[in-house]
Amino acid sequence: MISQNAIDALRKTEIGARGLFINGAQTDGTEGATLPVISPIDGRPFASIADGNAADIDRAVKSAREAFDKGSWSRSAPAFRKKVLVRLAELIEKHADELAVLGVRDNGTEIGMAYKAEPLSAAGTIRYYAEAIDKIYGEIAPTADNVLGLIHKEPLGVVGVIVPWNFPLMIGAWKIAPALAAGNCVVVKPPEIASLTLLRLAELASEAGLPAGVLNVVTGRGAVTGEALGLHMDVDAIAFTGSGPVGRRLLEYSARSNLKRVFLELGGKSPNIVFADAPGLKQAAVVSANGIFRNSGQVCVAGSRLLVQASVYDRFMAELLSATTRLKVGDPLDLSSDVGAVSSAEQLDKNLGFVARAAAEGARLVTGGERILAETGGSYMAPTIFENVTQGMQLAREEVFGPVLGVMRFETEEEAVRLANSTVYGLASAVWTANLSTAHRMVRAINAGVVHVNTYGGADITVPLGGVKQSGFGRDKSLHALEKYFDLKTAWIAL
Ligand code: NAD
Repeated sequence: MISQNAIDALRKTEIGARGLFINGAQTDGTEGATLPVISPIDGRPFASIADGNAADIDRAVKSAREAFDKGSWSRSAPAFRKKVLVRLAELIEKHADELAVLGVRDNGTEIGMAYKAEPLSAAGTIRYYAEAIDKIYGEIAPTADNVLGLIHKEPLGVVGVIVPWNFPLMIGAWKIAPALAAGNCVVVKPPEIASLTLLRLAELASEAGLPAGVLNVVTGRGAVTGEALGLHMDVDAIAFTGSGPVGRRLLEYSARSNLKRVFLELGGKSPNIVFADAPGLKQAAVVSANGIFRNSGQVCVAGSRLLVQASVYDRFMAELLSATTRLKVGDPLDLSSDVGAVSSAEQLDKNLGFVARAAAEGARLVTGGERILAETGGSYMAPTIFENVTQGMQLAREEVFGPVLGVMRFETEEEAVRLANSTVYGLASAVWTANLSTAHRMVRAINAGVVHVNTYGGADITVPLGGVKQSGFGRDKSLHALEKYFDLKTAWIAL
């Protein structure tokens, strides 16, 4: 774990102006435009990034294509790719303190969580796919004796990666690592408000021996660089995590350009369901509070809808309130903070808009609901709970992506299932019960990519992550994710 001394030594490091990373080197944007990097810790700029444009995306895609065609990565032995990627994982671990603090200055996640979720988890993901890639075989088809059907797995070509700001390194690695391991070349478009760690990752990849052009990073605004990547005629696939509206655009861009495949990991409105027989209501309340409020609720799988069975409602809510008010919100670079800053002033305003509407629609504010620590200049929000939320309210239907929990009461299992499934999303969920049959019935009945039982979050790289319905399609993590970055080619040989 990182120490407070290490954090304090790194928190003021000069970052300066960061360029793009194309063809193995830092380079300025074609037009030289920049964007300030504002820290949500204190609302102050502390660096700048290149404000890339379509010409920069084109340069990056050309560099990726040339590297792909050259074959020094794409046609290399998997054992070589493994060696380079393992080296990259080691370099990330070596620079974990630096990467963690840099990322927190950029997006405000509390350092305790960021340290594990960003550099350490990214390194783990890269090592996982590196170790896997020389164990993946092609197939021989079960044909008649007079033919031989060989099924080859080939890389797709150039893969575009677009990620959000909540965990750019971790989510980036979920896509970059399997794409690279499979032999693809990659162009990354980081989120405009948290680009710094992905730029650093590209430098470390170079140091690890990744050939020039195999991993490129173009910073800039989503509507400019993201759109250019989505529309590019020479990009074979886009792996995206972010909001539903941008996901829809990417599908349109694909239809309007070269029919590139698009993998979407989108938002959620995940139900966390507490039955009366939940083992340890107090513990369930603590985990549930963490499951919505850590990283200021800016977690795609956050349990943002809490459904509590009526007979334990009052007891559970008392425990939840006590767990919530114990959370210390503050400087994300202070190890004693449980919850850091909201990622930007805009996101904070958006959250407060949800609070105002929930109150106006008749939900009852239990705690929070306001900006705090305004004197720091940063964007901090009190963990917020509303009860008496009903299905028609905005808070029951739309993703806040902030520290705002909506609570509903239910009587029967059927009612819980109906409420749980009555959103357009289907990303995560949880069920708290001591009854094995109830747990299994709920796992089958809930429409979601993951159903936690008697816990919330924490799933590791060995299991897939992704949603159903409007939470998207395609899965990150596990060996299943590797398949997205391969094409199948058949050789049909007459004998
Ligand atoms: P966003 O959709 O606004 O942005 C995501 C990325 O898309 C950013 O890099 C942005 O620059 C880029 N982008 C924006 N406009 C674009 C355009 N027109 N064309 C191409 N790219 C464009 O999302 P956000 O606000 O950064 O992140 C929050 C959202 O991400 C939430 O909805 C959250 O649920 C979702 N999310 C999902 C997961 C998951 O695994 N399912 C994980 C984390 C976050």
